[in-house]
Amino acid sequence: MDPVLISQELIRCQSITPQNEGALEVVEKYLKQLGFVCERFDFEGIVNLYAHRGSGRPHLCFAGHTDVVPLGEASLWKHQPFQGEIKDGQLWGRGAADMKCAIAAFISALSDVEVEGALSLLITGDEEGEALHGTQRVLPILAQRGMIPDLCLIGEPTSLNVVGDTLKIGRRGSIVGHLTCYGVQGHIAYPQNTDNPIPRMIQCLKALCSYEFDAGTDIFEPTRLEITSIDVGNNASNIIPQKINARFGIRLNILQKAEELCEVIQSICKTHAAEHELQLTIHGNAFLTKEQEKVSLIQRAVKVATGCLPALSTTGGTTDGRFISAYCPVIECGMREATMHQIDEHVALDDIWKLTEIYTSILKAFYLPEAFSSGREVQ
Ligand SMILES: [Zn+2]
Repeated sequence: MDPVLISQELIRCQSITPQNEGALEVVEKYLKQLGFVCERFDFEGIVNLYAHRGSGRPHLCFAGHTDVVPLGEASLWKHQPFQGEIKDGQLWGRGAADMKCAIAAFISALSDVEVEGALSLLITGDEEGEALHGTQRVLPILAQRGMIPDLCLIGEPTSLNVVGDTLKIGRRGSIVGHLTCYGVQGHIAYPQNTDNPIPRMIQCLKALCSYEFDAGTDIFEPTRLEITSIDVGNNASNIIPQKINARFGIRLNILQKAEELCEVIQSICKTHAAEHELQLTIHGNAFLTKEQEKVSLIQRAVKVATGCLPALSTTGGTTDGRFISAYCPVIECGMREATMHQIDEHVALDDIWKLTEIYTSILKAFYLPEAFSSGREVQ
């Protein structure tokens, strides 16, 4: 099966999250041809596909999503975002890098390899949005059925300069905060009758920003808080405002637990913000795949295809790995990250073929580890 043709077919589905627009049907069509049993899990109008073939162990699951982020400034696109245009050796379109071509590459790799054991794909239509009704909801059902795999391979973009140069074996967690400080509005010439919430907010944000959560680990950056917005909305030059809003985001590493971190934030705000309201939304804890043998096996499999041992990393945004890692080890390997979510998103055709080769090698390494570990080249 030609991974470029499948990629084009997927890009032609306008599956802006949480719309499906036929994207999962394309995946399903090819998987059925390859003998997979396809099952749908639909929650609140959001579609998810679980496809499986074979039984027993080993069991590898490929996880991904067919939904894509919106176009952004649509008029700035020089290439049609949903046409699957090929030009200058590149395939253009929304979702090319993140992550329709990876799904196509995996399907194509499947058509090339015979495996013993179980093989499954968990493809959701709800990753780029709130991710409430996707992978997170399917996993408990699979657990109940005893269908949790030995390893989950996620096809998110992970590569830096060359496809296959980097694997993600963990990701940071994320918390979003919204802080409002309240005061008493009044005339700036009569400050004794007012209570200005702005200095308190500045104090509080300074304390939050300078707080050293941790120093990071050998594979994780330090936990960091970034302010994303400060708003007063005060158009008058002689009024002390009644309130001020700020928003911030925290990317936390494996040394932190999101719930405990929230308590730290709450106590800093209590100390500095006086009358305030604080909303903290946890979007996941950090995770790290510690199964060295599995990581090393996948690293070596990638090397067979690329000639280079991939680096291990935990950078970037959150993925469904945060949910899956609670059930089984997770390794992410996909396209180059360069143009994901950008205007004129694209991937090189060569990269699609290279990723197909990488996935083929991973399948062989996973299902024939003896042949692979003994050093014989796995063909
Ligand atoms: Zn993605």
